[in-house]
Parts: sequence; structure tokens; C-alpha cells
Amino acid sequence: VPLVEMRDVSKYYGNIRALEGVSLEVHAGEITCVLGDNGAGKSTLIKIIAGLHRHDAGDFRIEGRPAKLANPRDALDRGIATVYQDLAVVPLMPVWRNFFLGSEPTKGRGPLRRLDVELMRRTTYSELLRMGIDLRDVDQPIGTLSGGERQCVAIARAVYFGAKVLVLDEPTAALGVKQSGVVLKYVAAARDAGLGVVLITHNPHHAYLVGDRFILLKRGVMAGSHPKPEITLDD
Ligand code: ADP
Ligand code: ADP
Repeated sequence: VPLVEMRDVSKYYGNIRALEGVSLEVHAGEITCVLGDNGAGKSTLIKIIAGLHRHDAGDFRIEGRPAKLANPRDALDRGIATVYQDLAVVPLMPVWRNFFLGSEPTKGRGPLRRLDVELMRRTTYSELLRMGIDLRDVDQPIGTLSGGERQCVAIARAVYFGAKVLVLDEPTAALGVKQSGVVLKYVAAARDAGLGVVLITHNPHHAYLVGDRFILLKRGVMAGSHPKPEITLDD
């Protein structure tokens, strides 16, 4: 059973067609790429998967059951983590605090105990390292990290907190060649950790580097899928 399955999904804003007859599958340990130019319907697709919008027609299932997401909390509860382009980070907060922001260990306890802090620091360091980033100073404000590193922190966070599906909204859009490579390797690491990844991008090259499945959207409809050329990240 796919982690996420859409069959003939449509979404209209009034009489504006945002999506019509769109189908996709997301499987554990695979990357499904959604390609398309501006206005293709990529954001609308994300909003449906993330529980921000309801689809008007078609079938949307999570692990075989109808999704019925009323809000983003529902999506999280079903194991879907979304990393948006403008990451919801607090720039002046230390990296480790951003990593644990909103998570249970810090909730409703008043001031953090020193033990908790030490544990969270170490966890942040080791989780980032496990996925290939050796960030010496987890106390630095997250705003001092590059855009690519911030994407990686957000991805590592989703993996650590047990997401099954990771939805990435144009994670390389604002990045140069080198940073993009770092982020794509990180995306591949999330896939190798067993997550099902949805990679939204307008960059076909990035999609082909890491993708397993592809859909191409044009003005809201499926415009086919591309074969995967033989390229590796190290080329
Ligand atoms: P993309 O993310 O690929 O640029 P969108 O999903 O944002 O595409 O947009 C798909 C289409 O739906 C576009 O024609 C866009 O103008 C329209 N659209 C998106 N959001 C809204 C909205 N909230 N109200 C009306 N039209 C919208
Ligand atoms: P919803 O009404 O489904 O909550 P949004 O909160 O995304 O949708 O948008 C609110 C309003 O802003 C929409 O009804 C639409 O008029 C306008 N809007 C937002 N994004 C777009 C877009 N990409 N193209 C056209 N109109 C948009």
C-alpha cells in the first residue's frame, strides 16, 4: 500500500482550475517528484497533502485509508511532515532549540532543566551528523546557517520525529549549485532512512538526480512523466 495515493484529484478556486485529474503515489524509501512551472498547481497539491486545503473531487488516501484531513495537525498526526520554502524557523534561536521547537519534551514544563538542554543539544548534533552534516556548534543562532543547511536541519527534524512522509516545497529554489547538492544528498538520506518523499521542484535536473517517480503538471493537469536518465549525484 502506498503511503500516499491520489487518483484523479481536482481542486478549484471558484472557477479557477488549480488541479484536475491528478494522480500520484508516494512509497516508503522512494522520492516522488512533482515538476511544473509557476501556476502548474504545485502549491495547491502541497496544501492538499498538508491538510491546508480540501480537494474537490477524486480519491486521496494515506496508507490505504481516505485522508480526510481537516487541518495541518491531522496531516502531522498521520505522519506527514511538510518543509516549506520559507522555513518556519526562529532566526535568533539556537539550532538545537529550533530542532526541538514545538516538540513534546519542552512542552508545559516551564524553564528547561539543564539535563534536558544537554540532551537536546547532543541529539541535535548526532542527528545532523547521522545524516551527513557535522555541525560543530549547535548553539549558534539558526539564522547564521546557510539556506541549504537550514533545509537540512528541517529535514533531519522530520526524520527524527518519526515522519513517514516528507513533503519538500522547492528545497533548492533559492540555492546555488553546491548548496543544492548538499540538500539533495540530504533528501536522499531521508529516503534511505525509509521515508516516502515528495519533492516539489521546477528544476528537472534536481528531480532526475534523486527521483524515483515523476509527475509533470501543466496548468493543473498531468502533462506526462519523464524517463529517468542515468545521472548520479557524484557526476
Ligand atoms: P504553483 O505552485 O505550481 O505555482 P498554484 O497551486 O499556486 O501553482 O496555482 C495553481 C493555479 O491556481 C494558478 O492559476 C493560481 O493562480 C491559482 N490559485 C492558487 N491559489 C489560489 C487561490 N487561493 N485562489 C484563487 N486562485 C488560486
Ligand atoms: P482559501 O480561500 O482556500 O483559504 P487562500 O487562503 O490560499 O485560499 O487564499 C485566499 C484568497 O486569496 C483566495 O480566495 C484568492 O482570492 C486569493 N489568492 C491567493 N492566492 C492566489 C493565487 N495564487 N492566485 C489568485 N488568487 C489567489
